[in-house]
Amino acid sequence: MLVRLLYVSQPVGPITTTVTTSILMKSHTHNKKANITGILCQGAGLWLQALEGERSQVNRLYSRIMGDRQHQNIEMLSMNEIKHRQFEQWSMALVHLDKDDPMVKMAHPEFDPYSASAEDAMALLDALIKSSSPITIMDA
Ligand code: FAD
Repeated sequence: MLVRLLYVSQPVGPITTTVTTSILMKSHTHNKKANITGILCQGAGLWLQALEGERSQVNRLYSRIMGDRQHQNIEMLSMNEIKHRQFEQWSMALVHLDKDDPMVKMAHPEFDPYSASAEDAMALLDALIKSSSPITIMDA
């Protein structure tokens, strides 16, 4: 059974390029093996991530991610059964959310993932993917 899990969290400490690159590299290695796809959105003081795959694999990965001390206040926004993957081309890709971006402000004036509905959070992810070029690790 395919599911999509969406969660939000807050990094402990600054998000440096080293931190982000390390997450993307690990995701690329492990997610490929577990047939997990998804998107990681990085904003000022938050991470918003969607994980897609078989329910047991997604649960396993989410438990692992929850135990990661690089972030805190991890809150699941939703976990839904899906018929099709939305991010099937990426073992994990990264998009940036700049809350000061005028377009983001206009389209999502009050955006706060901790109080937003999962639907709104997914809509924001969709919009970010369409308006930017997600960064991903390619196979050598
Ligand atoms: P170690 O603890 O060094 O490895 C221990 C053993 O477990 C090794 O044999 C290793 O190969 C194996 N292992 C590690 N991770 C997995 C796994 N996911 N599945 C199966 N075996 C594994 N990690 C991801 O893998 N995918 C993600 O999408 C992802 N997203 C993240 C998003 C955020 C916001 C953050 C903060 C972290 C994310 N991580 C993700 C990292 C995750 O929390 C762990 O740090 C990482 O999976 C551990 O990898 P490691 O190789 O350092 O494991």
